[in-house]
Order: sequence, then structure tokens, then C-alpha cells
Amino acid sequence: MDHVIGLRCLVCGRRYRPDEIEYVCPEHGAEGIVDVEYDYDVIGARASPPRLGGEPGMWRYRSLLPVEVWSEPPPLVVGGTPLVAAPRLAGEIAVAEVWVKDEGRQPTASLKDRASAMAVVKAAERGIDTITTASTGNAAAALAGMCAAAGRRAVIFVPASAPKGKVAQLLAYGANVILVDGTYDEAFEMSMGAASSTGWYNRNTGFNPYMSEGKKTVVFEVCEQLAWSAPDVIAVGVGDGCIIGGLHKGLRDLVALGWIDHMPRLIGVQAEGSAFLAEAWWSGEDVLTKAPIRTYTVADSISAGLPRDRLKAMAAVVETGGAFVTVSDEQILQAIPDMARGCGVFGEPAAAAAWAGMRIAAGSRLVGPADRVVVLSTGNGLKDAGAAVRASELVQSTVLRVPPGRDGLNHAMRRLQPMTAETR
Ligand SMILES: *Cc1c(COP(=O)(O)O)cnc(C)c1O
Ligand SMILES: [Zn+2]
Repeated sequence: MDHVIGLRCLVCGRRYRPDEIEYVCPEHGAEGIVDVEYDYDVIGARASPPRLGGEPGMWRYRSLLPVEVWSEPPPLVVGGTPLVAAPRLAGEIAVAEVWVKDEGRQPTASLKDRASAMAVVKAAERGIDTITTASTGNAAAALAGMCAAAGRRAVIFVPASAPKGKVAQLLAYGANVILVDGTYDEAFEMSMGAASSTGWYNRNTGFNPYMSEGKKTVVFEVCEQLAWSAPDVIAVGVGDGCIIGGLHKGLRDLVALGWIDHMPRLIGVQAEGSAFLAEAWWSGEDVLTKAPIRTYTVADSISAGLPRDRLKAMAAVVETGGAFVTVSDEQILQAIPDMARGCGVFGEPAAAAAWAGMRIAAGSRLVGPADRVVVLSTGNGLKDAGAAVRASELVQSTVLRVPPGRDGLNHAMRRLQPMTAETR
């Protein structure tokens, strides 16, 4: 890994060699999140947009990732998701262009696959067979899926309140699942304890420095899909802050390499009932000393009382001139059918939250009519069927119910004509 200079502590700035520390800065414990630093001259000499590798999905950007040359990714194709043009959504919020990055089309149906694939690679580099994490659901599913593909063991701590479908997904992949009658934050502490007492590889977000490195590949794809003409604004749902931190990191890589010519503004969208970072951003409070909050939101994937990657998340918004915005549960649910109808991408609540937040940002001075914007749809709508049902009730989707046969068909056809006229 001669392209990696070291790991820099975000609290004290101290630099470590990659083989010198396991996860965090020893001086600062779990708070001492580190950032992977690269030698961009070395990377630039080896890679350029036309010379990116032929590996599938996210590993196409391998020369910009902190992995050994000999490392083998799990045999599931992660990344390479579509960037969907959404002209009607652009019209609605009066901006030049909107694209929706459909991360619901990952192998386990969320963006978390990018981080979990990286975890499996880093664990293998260390020769560790068991990987543990806590998760509100998607990181767990991603780890379970990647471990199943690579023949490794996953031990996962999930709050018992996680949507049933997400838990079923873990079980199908054969993960060892521990349902915790408590919050994500409590499950997190338990997973951390398990890792430190056993030596299992620790995938936990905001602790493992390589997770945001995996997630940054989404923004490499976005920029490449736009022919290396970076968008002006990117919106994403924020819980722990690892994704938005990863976006910032990926964009900094591309600016440093000169592959894009400007830094997009990052909009972090939080649920009103889980707005730790938004509150700190408004009040100027230090995220390292701000007390954890109690959370309530329909968007389980962005529910985090103490965002584990809060330092990277805050830097992402502040250093790009972006913003945090908050959205209510009702706005989140409403955004599910709105985004689905507006461009054909069906997202889970945390994914649709990004569209809800972009709408709010576009109504303020944060986003202007000349802007080209990207909305990250981070997880598939089928991940949380219950929320999708609630959302369809909210928009009062009309469903015709008829008996089978000709009478039923005639009845349906009579009702359908006026209905189509109304909804135009
Ligand atoms: C994890 C997740 C998020 C938020 O990512 P953080 O890194 O926790 O901020 C958003 N949407 C979905 C679908 C997720 O699974
Ligand atoms: Zn430190």
C-alpha cells in the first residue's frame, strides 16, 4: 500500500502508519477516528480516468482505495449502480438537473455493501475469519451478504425494533444474529465489547477507518457517470455520518488528483427525531462534547442518538459550504411515492429522506436554478415494506378491488377512465 501515507487522528492530528494502529488513535480511544491519507502523486502516476481498471463495480477504483494489490474482493459485484436522470423532479424544484443514484440496486439492496465489501477485504488482509458489527439493519445485511459470498462468519448485533424484512435477510445469509432489546447505540457498545474480547474484525461505523473509504466509491461512480463533470450539490440521508464523510473524502481525492474541477456542496438530511448533527450545526456546539439524544423516526437507517462518524460528517458539510436540513416523518413517508413516481426509483425511508431534504434545500438559498444536483437513494424501498404501505396510505393511492371475470373487468374499466383523467 505504498499509495497510503498514513492514518491521521481527527482529534489530535497525529499520524500513524497503517500497520501501527488497528482502528482508532490510541490516545483518543473510540473518539479518535482516523482518516486515511494518500500520496496523490503515486496514485496519479498509476491511474487516470481513461486508465481505470477493468475490475467490476467499486474495485474499478482500486488504485484509490486502501487495499493491498493482492487482496481479493468478495465474489459479489458491489457498485456500478445506475445514475437515473430525473427531469420531472428537476422541474418540480426548479433546478437545472436532478439525478438519483439508485443504491437500492446493490447486492443486498443498500449502499452499505460498499463498506462491508471493504470490511471483508481488510479482515482477510489481517487473516481474521469472523467479522462483527452493530447495525440498524442495512450494514448488517451487507456484512451478512458479503460474508456469505466470501465464506466468512458474521456476528451481528441489531436492535430488536429493526424492520422484520431486514432481520430476515440476515438470517437468510446465515449470519449469527443477536437481537438486542435496546437501541442501536446499545447494540453498538455490545458489538464493540465482543470485538475487543475476541479479536474478531470490527466493522463498526465511525470506529473502523476503512468504512468511509468503501463508501466513497459511490461518488467516484457519480462523477464518472457525469463524465467527470462534478455535480453542484449532493443530498444524502445522515445517521452516523459515515456516508456523507465518505462522499467528502471521495470528492477530496478527485479534486486532489485534478479529475474534477470543483467541490460539490454536501447536504446532510436528518430526520427531525434524529437530528444530532443538524442541531450541532445550527448551534455551533462541539460534536465531541454534545450529549447523545433520544431518537424517534420512521427512517430507521438514519436513527442515531450519537452519530459515530460525527467528526467526518460535520467537516463534510462545513468544508463544502453545504448544510444540514431536517425533515419530518411525514415528509419522509411522502417522499417515498413522490420519488418513485417522479423518476422510478423506489427507496426506503432513509433514502427518500434525501429527496425530502433536497426539496427543502431547493426552497431556500442553498440550491439555485443553475444547479445540477444528485440525490443518493441509499436503500431499496422493499427493505421496509411496512413504511411503504404507510406511505401509500398517506398519498391515498386509489386501489380498485373487483370480483374476477367480465363484470369485474367492466367495472374496473368504467372506473379507470375517469381516474386517469383526474390524475393527469
Ligand atoms: C446507513 C444508511 C444511511 C445513513 O448512513 P450513515 O453513514 O449512518 O450516515 C442512509 N440511508 C440508508 C438506506 C442507510 O442504510
Ligand atoms: Zn488522537
